Amino acid sequence: PKIHIGMATCGIASGALETKSAFEEALQERGVEALVHTVGCVGHCYAEPVVVIDHPDSGFPPILYPEVTPGKAKMLTKLFLQEYDPRFEHIMGATVENEMIPSVHEFSRFNREKRVIMERCGRIDPEQIHEYLADGGYGALAMALGEAPDAIIDRIEASGLRGRGGAGFPTGVKWKIARAAAGSENTIICNADEGDPGAYMDRTLLESNPHQVIEGMTIAAVAVGAKKGLFYVRAEYPLAVRILESAIEQARAKGLLGNDILGSGFDFDIDLFQGSGAFVCGEETALIRSVEGYRGMPRHRPPYPVERGLDNRPTVINNVKTLATIPPIVEKGAEWFRGIGTPESPGTAVFSVVGNVTHPGLVEIPMGVTLRELIFDICGGIPDKKEFKAVQIGGPSGGCLSADFLDTPVDFDALTKAGAMMGSGGMVVMDEDACMVDVARYFLDFTAKESCGKCTFCRIGTRHQLDILRRITRGEGREGDIEQLETLSRAVKKGSLCALGKTAPNPVLTSLAYFRDEYEAHIAEGR
Ligand code: SF4
Repeated sequence: PKIHIGMATCGIASGALETKSAFEEALQERGVEALVHTVGCVGHCYAEPVVVIDHPDSGFPPILYPEVTPGKAKMLTKLFLQEYDPRFEHIMGATVENEMIPSVHEFSRFNREKRVIMERCGRIDPEQIHEYLADGGYGALAMALGEAPDAIIDRIEASGLRGRGGAGFPTGVKWKIARAAAGSENTIICNADEGDPGAYMDRTLLESNPHQVIEGMTIAAVAVGAKKGLFYVRAEYPLAVRILESAIEQARAKGLLGNDILGSGFDFDIDLFQGSGAFVCGEETALIRSVEGYRGMPRHRPPYPVERGLDNRPTVINNVKTLATIPPIVEKGAEWFRGIGTPESPGTAVFSVVGNVTHPGLVEIPMGVTLRELIFDICGGIPDKKEFKAVQIGGPSGGCLSADFLDTPVDFDALTKAGAMMGSGGMVVMDEDACMVDVARYFLDFTAKESCGKCTFCRIGTRHQLDILRRITRGEGREGDIEQLETLSRAVKKGSLCALGKTAPNPVLTSLAYFRDEYEAHIAEGR
C-alpha cells in the first residue's frame, strides 16, 4: 500500500508534517508495511491535510481522505491498512458518494477539471526527479533537442498558447521575436513573482512539480537560443525556493541542465533569484531592474525585454504556468492543445479559488467553462446557504463581477469584455454579506501601497481614491464623491506607465458599474 500525503504549503500549514509522523509511528507500532509517500498539492486545499491511500489488496480503489489529523492517521492505519474494516469510510469521512467509494480519479471535481499543467501535482514527489522521469518527464525535452528551433516555435505558435501571467500575449510570437533578436547570450526568465491577494497557483505548482517548469524553460531555451535561465521567485515562498533549488541540482546531475544536455551539444543552465516582495516586480521591466540590482521600477517600452532586457540582451520572460504548458504541447502537438478550451483561448486555466466558497483550492479547467460551473459545480457554491454576490477575478488589477456575469465563459477575451481580466488566476468569491465599497477599498489599498511612485497619477491619484473610499465606508461620504472617483479612475488609467497603475482603478470602476446602489446607500444613509 501507498500513503500519499500532500506536503505543499497548504498541507504543511494544516498539519501534514504531524500527520506524516503519525502514520510512520502507527505503521511501525502495528508492523504494517506501507510506503509513506510525500507529494505536492492535489488542489483540494479546503480538505488539507489530504491523504490518498492506494491499497490494491483491500479491493478498494485509491481513496482520498480529507482533514487527516494525527489521530485519524492512527485510526486509518488500524482500521484500513491493518484490518480492512468496511466501516472505516464512515469513521474517516472519506469521499463517499451514493454509498459507493469512488476512486480518487473518479471524484466529481476531477471529472469537471482538465489537467494539463497540474496533471502530476499530488501524484509525484516533487523532490525526487526519478518520479518525474518515470512518469515520462523530460521526454518532451529529448524530442525538442532533436528538432530545429523554428519547428518548436511554429508548434507553440500553432497551438495558440497565450501567456498565463495575465496579459495573454501569444507565446510563440514572443519566442519568434526573441529568436530573431538572438545572440549567444540571451536569457529566459521564469516569472514566479506571484503577488495578488488570494493567488497561489504558481507557488503550488513549483512546490508540487518543479521539473515540468524546468523542462518547459529548457525547451524555450532550445527554441530561442538562450544559454542562461533564471527563476524569479518571491522570497516569501521559502518552500518553493528550496524545492526548486533541489530540482535544478538534480536536473544538473542527470545531465538535463548544464553543458551538452543529453549529449546534444546544447548548453543551458538555470539560476534562481529571490525577489523581495514588491508587487510591481511582476512587471517585466521592473523585474529586470530588480535582478540587475536596482530599485524595481517599470520603464517605458519599447524596447521590449524580448529585444533588450536583462543586461541589455534579448530576454524572454514567461510565467510559471506558461512554461509548464510547453512540455505537453511539444509531446502531444498543437492540434491536441487546440482541442482544449476555446478557439481564441486554447488550453486550460489554473485558478486559486478562495473566499466564500465551499471548496476553495486550486482548480484547472478548460478555457470556456463558465464562472457558474467553476464556482458552483466544481467549488461547491456558497457555504451557509448564503447568496452569491460577486467574484473578483484577476487580483487587484481585475474587476468585481456580479451574479449577472455567472454565465460568462472563463477565457481571456470574455473576461476582459465583462470588465474583469484573467490575470494570473486569482479568484475571490464573495457572498451576500460583502460590502462592495469595502472590497474596492481593500484592493485599492493594496495597489496604492504597491505603487512604485514613478507616475504622479498612480502615486497620488490612487491615494485620493483611497481617501474617498475610506470616507464612504466610514459613513462620511459626500455628494460628488462617486463622480470624483470616476474622474480619478479615468485619470489614473490614462496617466500611468505600467499595468499596475493602468488597472488599479478596475475594482472601483466595476463595483461602481455593478453595485452603484451600495455606494449611493452608504452616502445617503451615512453608514
Ligand atoms: Fe510605478 Fe504606478 Fe507608474 Fe507603474 S503606474 S510605473 S507602479 S507609479
